[in-house]
Amino acid sequence: MKEPEPLLHYPLGERLPPPGGAMDVAPGVKWLRMPLPFELDHINLWLLRDRSDTPQGPQEGWTVVDCGIHADSTIGFWEKIFVEELEGLPVLRVIVTHMHPDHVGLADWLCRRWQARLWMSATDYNMTRLGTLGAAGFGGGGAGAFFASHGLNDPAVTACMQERIRDFPNLVPAVPTQYVRLLDGDRLTVGEHRWHCIAGHGHSPEHMALHSPGLGLLISGDMVLPRISTNVSVYDQEPEANALQLFLDSIDRLRALPADTLTLPSHGKPFLGLHARIHQLHRHHQQRLDHLLQTCAEQARCAADVMPALFQRTLDAQQTTFALGEAVAHLNLLWHAGRLARRRDADGVLRFAPPCDGDQPSVLAA
Ligand SMILES: [Zn+2]
Repeated sequence: MKEPEPLLHYPLGERLPPPGGAMDVAPGVKWLRMPLPFELDHINLWLLRDRSDTPQGPQEGWTVVDCGIHADSTIGFWEKIFVEELEGLPVLRVIVTHMHPDHVGLADWLCRRWQARLWMSATDYNMTRLGTLGAAGFGGGGAGAFFASHGLNDPAVTACMQERIRDFPNLVPAVPTQYVRLLDGDRLTVGEHRWHCIAGHGHSPEHMALHSPGLGLLISGDMVLPRISTNVSVYDQEPEANALQLFLDSIDRLRALPADTLTLPSHGKPFLGLHARIHQLHRHHQQRLDHLLQTCAEQARCAADVMPALFQRTLDAQQTTFALGEAVAHLNLLWHAGRLARRRDADGVLRFAPPCDGDQPSVLAA
């Protein structure tokens, strides 16, 4: 969803790095932009000037942050970047913010190409490994039953979700069998600069953003984007997840960063106005939550009922899979907070309404 952005400032203007090229955003920090064959048509990747100690002495090179999907075109752009942007130096390590294919897709190829190590959170690393197994790894046919329990019985939507699961190994055919685990609060030295790892939840299981106090930069991954609101969905694997509360709590932690931090997002342009953007995102979700409380007070509703009001546009099958997951994320937040009760009706559909005496609290209620 596009939103007004009057409080954000783009210090690099309208300029974008060309495919296969790079733009400097800070000393030793380069911005890359790779095309994607989706509605969201690009991803930003980052190169950080680095140095590692080897038995032969210090080795100069680069750290890559995020990789692009596994596609011949992306590999071609990478090869051009290796020749034209690395100053004749190697890639020393590959950091991946999270498990989504546009971020992790080429991690295995990059690590093999340069004998570099992958650095990633444990949860997202292991989820990626499961994803490379396709339906067998991600649990296969549960999506249809999950959608039906939320009132959606459209075979086209279920087929689309299963296709997405099957498609993961095409976009991410492999992941390195060894990696370095990133944990919240870790301090990495990359070349001349320190980068702090900040874990975030709700978009992927254990997303890792990177903040450099010295450079005043935040590599936000998908947790904070300037123009679109991050997808926050509940999936059949974890049907009671409170993904939206986790997401809102996670972006709140970023308020502790200085107001003049330059945010480097995975989609869109680098921007100033991190605190304003966090405020906008809170307001956006609060408006949706208020609307849901109102509409569920009129009549008990399931997620499929409230989807059209939350997404006021025509949705194709793929967009519907995302929209249903987002609708459940909002309803689950209100359920876990005790603002709505959840009941399974005789038709097997979960419906949400204001709580009354005798309702079971949510499984996560305090
Ligand atoms: Zn993502």
